[in-house]
Amino acid sequence: MEYFCKTCKKKYASYQSLWNHNNTFHKDTKTDTILKKPVVFVCKTCKQEFTNRQTKWRHEKKCFKPNEPNNIITKVDEIETNLSKIADIQSQTLQLLKQIIQPQKSIKMIKNK
Ligand SMILES: [Zn+2]
Ligand SMILES: [Zn+2]
Repeated sequence: MEYFCKTCKKKYASYQSLWNHNNTFHKDTKTDTILKKPVVFVCKTCKQEFTNRQTKWRHEKKCFKPNEPNNIITKVDEIETNLSKIADIQSQTLQLLKQIIQPQKSIKMIKNK
């Protein structure tokens, strides 16, 4: 197993020596990545990442609260219209298929109506 330094692509045989290398040569970037990763606040709506809780909170007030219920309602509306469209198409196709497969029967059905 070989370990590569992500910053300068140096190769190391053990994680420990890579860690030492990082600690000596890239101390700033290393602490930076360590600090950055856990301190990420993600907007629930648009998944945007924020390093500052306040910034995220302020963003979410604009992004999350006014949009989320509307978004869900429009999404549900969209799905419902799409579903009814599909149902329409299905019944139309079924009727067409019946007419194609059994032309005599459908003629009788129409006559009966
Ligand atoms: Zn390096
Ligand atoms: Zn957002």
